[in-house]
Amino acid sequence: MEEKLLNLPETCCPVDELLKYVRGHKCLDCGKCVFGYEGAAQLEMTLNDITMKKSRSTDMDQLRKLCGLMKTQALCEDGVELADTALAVMEKYADEFAQHIAKRSCKAGVCKRFVTYHILADKCVGCGDCMDACEDDAIQGRAKFVHVIDQNECTQCGKCKEACEEDAIVIAGAIKPRCPPRPIPCRR
Ligand code: SF4
Ligand code: SF4
Repeated sequence: MEEKLLNLPETCCPVDELLKYVRGHKCLDCGKCVFGYEGAAQLEMTLNDITMKKSRSTDMDQLRKLCGLMKTQALCEDGVELADTALAVMEKYADEFAQHIAKRSCKAGVCKRFVTYHILADKCVGCGDCMDACEDDAIQGRAKFVHVIDQNECTQCGKCKEACEEDAIVIAGAIKPRCPPRPIPCRR
């Protein structure tokens, strides 16, 4: 059992940490038994879906059933250990898993698909560099106006944040900053 997975700091997302653990687990490189290899592959696929905002309401029940089968059917201790670890993480961090699935949010702000990008009105100088960097045409604005990100078009690539020399672009998790809904004249 990976004890450190049960003592995660708030800056870590348990779903993401478990996914990384599964991806590095020896069961995925073994293949000697169906329930070890296929179970690990199924775990990896479902956890990935949860972190990518593609989860289904039945995912947790299916993962628990899968781990139960792995525990009894895997041919060696590695498969059992993987199932035990996954079950323990899912139990301890049940709220965080539920938030990803039901509320489509990642409290730690780690899962990229759940975070949003915002432009702070008091920092933006309306230079337009972010608009030039955005390949998805997700930013509205004009010279000397506070620019605004269209959340329906944004793909969370982060290129605008890299381009902004004013540090006006921030990433938000569950709590979003207040930003103007459309471009307004810059205060700076
Ligand atoms: S967010 Fe940054 S890059 Fe975009 S217009 Fe404002 S200051 Fe310029
Ligand atoms: S994160 Fe990417 S897609 Fe979203 S507004 Fe910035 S550059 Fe455009």
